[in-house]
Amino acid sequence: MAIRKVRVIGDEILNKQCKPVKEMNARTAELIDDMFETMYEENGAGLAAPQVGILRQIVTIDVEDGNQYVLINPEIVEMSGEQTGYEGCLSVPGKTGIVTRPNHVKVRALNEKMEPYELVGEGLLARAICHECDHLKGKLYVSMVEGELEDVDAADEEESEE
Ligand code: ZN
Repeated sequence: MAIRKVRVIGDEILNKQCKPVKEMNARTAELIDDMFETMYEENGAGLAAPQVGILRQIVTIDVEDGNQYVLINPEIVEMSGEQTGYEGCLSVPGKTGIVTRPNHVKVRALNEKMEPYELVGEGLLARAICHECDHLKGKLYVSMVEGELEDVDAADEEESEE
């Protein structure tokens, strides 16, 4: 396992559409392990493959609910409700901003064994799923911020970096 370099805003790879994963292989399995290691090292709640320079539809999430989620080729199939709160991103270091997201989402994805499953998320998990799935479409949360991007120190300490 290895910590990978996190790409930051301004790097054009963050604005590109990611391709689906067709099969699991040793290289992709290693990428997923590295994504978790990188995410924990950087104190993030989620990471998408393009953030480490790989244009594949892979997301890792850990919102400290006791689970490590791997979403391969995710597709959000249900959204409802609304939540408004601070959001951050490892690719936008030192910044945070207010984003409105659905409070409930259901996502269909493959796990690390390429088995299909569905994940239902509420609150922070729903926010993380939306944020990371946006990365796979080349979209950063900064395009959705209500008002100004703020420096992290000036914001609520509960903001999370995704
Ligand atoms: Zn992000």
